[in-house]
Amino acid sequence: MRKNWIKTLSSSPYYSDLLKNNQKFPTMQKELFMEFFDSINTVGIKKEEALKLAFESEKTRDFSPSIKNISIGLSSGTSGNRGVFLTSKVEKAIWVGAILDRVIGFSLKKRKVAFFLRANNNLYQAVKSGLLSFTFFDLKTPIEEHIKKLMDLKADILVGQPSVLLAIAKSYQLADIKPTFNKIISVAEVLEDDHKEFFKSIFNCPINQVYQCTEGFLGYTCKKGQLHLNEDFLEIKKKYLDSNKTRFHPVITDYLRSSQPIVRYELNDILHEGPVCSCGSKSTVISKIEGRSDDIFRFLKNGDEIIIYPDFIRRAVILASDQILNYSVTLIDKKIISLYLDVEKTSELPEIFKSVKFEIEKLLSEFDIGDIDFIKANKKLDQLTKFTRIKNENSKSI
Ligand SMILES: [Zn+2]
Repeated sequence: MRKNWIKTLSSSPYYSDLLKNNQKFPTMQKELFMEFFDSINTVGIKKEEALKLAFESEKTRDFSPSIKNISIGLSSGTSGNRGVFLTSKVEKAIWVGAILDRVIGFSLKKRKVAFFLRANNNLYQAVKSGLLSFTFFDLKTPIEEHIKKLMDLKADILVGQPSVLLAIAKSYQLADIKPTFNKIISVAEVLEDDHKEFFKSIFNCPINQVYQCTEGFLGYTCKKGQLHLNEDFLEIKKKYLDSNKTRFHPVITDYLRSSQPIVRYELNDILHEGPVCSCGSKSTVISKIEGRSDDIFRFLKNGDEIIIYPDFIRRAVILASDQILNYSVTLIDKKIISLYLDVEKTSELPEIFKSVKFEIEKLLSEFDIGDIDFIKANKKLDQLTKFTRIKNENSKSI
């Protein structure tokens, strides 16, 4: 594997230069990766043409076009900060194999898969085999309009992001219809424990998670229900973020990627390591995906930066009430927090809002931060963007 990998790197102008000069490969971050996009990839694709095609596909919802037989995908993120990823046919085949094998599981029974996705990258369309039939639901259409078709389809496997699974679960609950799924696969967003429990109670089947991002297929749930890093294909190093080594950023090297080498690429995700799993796999167990480092709440106090990790804020919200179905806490300005709450009984919303505000204020006061205004966000869920519970939109302004 390593020999092929060196061959791959030699066809990347960026890495072949480093190899020739015996230089160390730098730790990559998204900005650097995008800056050297043209010289990192091995297939001669320019960033401008890749971006143009990816945006065009999103606009027209036609995801079939490719450049030189390479599919182009966009990662989610703010408009100026989106990553572009390239996937060749071979990589696609590997991805399909991994997904089928690890996540969907092999069965001789013919199964129907209902796939709810933001963008129908032809990466996903490639996941087809004689025993699996896929029905694609485009998230550009409101969920409510898909529900009847989904119920009629009587699919065996349901794939979607947690915020979409939540809407689907609520529809089944409301219609009092027994779901037919025997496996749920959560993708794209972090699956949180409260949602996992809710889905289990409605769908009555195992809830699996695929941990995947622009840079690759990073992890999946094993048969014991634990999320493992995909260390079969990737080398993953840990860059610890705190002194007691609870949190880390994964730094990944993907030996199977060839069109766009991923070498010592530091992801922005904050992960927590769990104990070794009893399933037999030695790969790292992730007990939690806490969020992204961009979403850490940061405040200035007497010239010092105060850091509050997303988990602290989550805990404050959970403490406030057990009637909350979903929420988001967004720091939109250094003095303003916007709060979105989806609760079981809307009549109780004002009371619950007050308790959430109280718990967050209490948390902030422990860090000696006060004078924060809270505003209500009455946003309707945007199905096309990634839903993030804890978000910092103020990170750049500090
Ligand atoms: Zn396991």
